Amino acid sequence: MIKDMSFEGQLLHIPYEKPDVHKALAMPVYQSVACEFDTAEAMEEAFCGRSKDHFYSRITNPTVQYYEDRIRRLTDALSVTALNSGMSAISNTFLTLAYAGANIITSPHLFGNTYSFLKNTLAGLGIEARFCDLTNLEEVRSRMDENTCAIFLEVITNPQMEVADLKQLAVIGQAAGIPLIADTTVVPFSVFHAREFGVDIELISSTKYISGGATSLGGLIIDYGTFRGERSKVLKMWRGPVGNEGFTSRLRREIHRNTGAYLTPQAAYMQNLGLETLQLRFIRQASTCLELARSLQKEEAIVSVNYTGLEDNPFYALSQTQFGEFPGAMLTFDLISREACFSFLNKLKLIRRATNLFDNKSLIIHPASTIYGSFPEEVRRSMHVKQQTIRLSVGLESTDDLLNDIRQALY
Ligand SMILES: *Cc1c(COP(=O)(O)O)cnc(C)c1O
Repeated sequence: MIKDMSFEGQLLHIPYEKPDVHKALAMPVYQSVACEFDTAEAMEEAFCGRSKDHFYSRITNPTVQYYEDRIRRLTDALSVTALNSGMSAISNTFLTLAYAGANIITSPHLFGNTYSFLKNTLAGLGIEARFCDLTNLEEVRSRMDENTCAIFLEVITNPQMEVADLKQLAVIGQAAGIPLIADTTVVPFSVFHAREFGVDIELISSTKYISGGATSLGGLIIDYGTFRGERSKVLKMWRGPVGNEGFTSRLRREIHRNTGAYLTPQAAYMQNLGLETLQLRFIRQASTCLELARSLQKEEAIVSVNYTGLEDNPFYALSQTQFGEFPGAMLTFDLISREACFSFLNKLKLIRRATNLFDNKSLIIHPASTIYGSFPEEVRRSMHVKQQTIRLSVGLESTDDLLNDIRQALY
């Protein structure tokens, strides 16, 4: 019956793993490091993975697991792992799949810390990030070899707003026996069904839309179980009789507990609440974003507006196919110079000068001088991060309130 319901209907009525003794309607925060056992035998069963009893909150916790279960049921995934930030979702995924000598096919159009993790941190472990143009399938194929362990991308890059064709990349990945991994932070799973486009493993910074008003950091790894890992050099010993759980097994039984990256129960409680209003907030924020993008195109002081929901955007058609009417609640626009950007930012009264995305409040930032501020100019240029670009994350204010603030700051 739950399967026939809307996203919100399903989400709100997914039962707890065990009945709550007080019948609490909000999943309680199990703020406890350990759980005890009645017998030594039961303890052995739990520690050896033969029962699902919780024993230590770095490994599983009832509150965090309820949050994971809700998302697993909603996305129909094989497994969902909640981590303490988006970056730990990304780092744990590659530590699970890669090995010294492996390489990852990706684009230079990445979130700043993701780029640095792939290029610098993984390089120190002998893992190479091969940056290429993921919209050029020939280039993708030509950069792959027998040590390629994944194709990785962000579904709408920021601040470039590039969209690659997921289905085509998935075909290339499947032929090589490697997973297509997508960071889908900018378009939530309530509207974008990554698995239908061939994504094997979905990564999300739940700090953004899901946390519900920027309450807490968090990350998610959603394994659809579609990557079987037959040819993986490191997942062989983790594959069970079904054969598609190698990634999740190594992640949950080795990497994630060894890096100590599990979400905290308090953050899981907040993100569980955020999840309940995700779709409501997203539709409101994304429709304001589209309206705003159309209005900003008419402003004389704005050189260009970049949002893939605009008909004249080069990625419009692909974006409609993959993400539908509302491709996120973030847009970028260019002014004539870095100085014009700074002057504009300093005059804003309502929109907050802050990093982060998808808070309830609208947030604005000049990416080149902040997120990418410590990158050498030539690296910034290779990532197509321009000095004239401003990024706006649209909140829950009305379109008119936002337009009025932008106009008074532009002129
Ligand atoms: C914010 C963000 C991250 C990192 O997430 P944290 O929760 O800050 O660690 C990764 N990818 C994208 C696209 C992001 O916007």
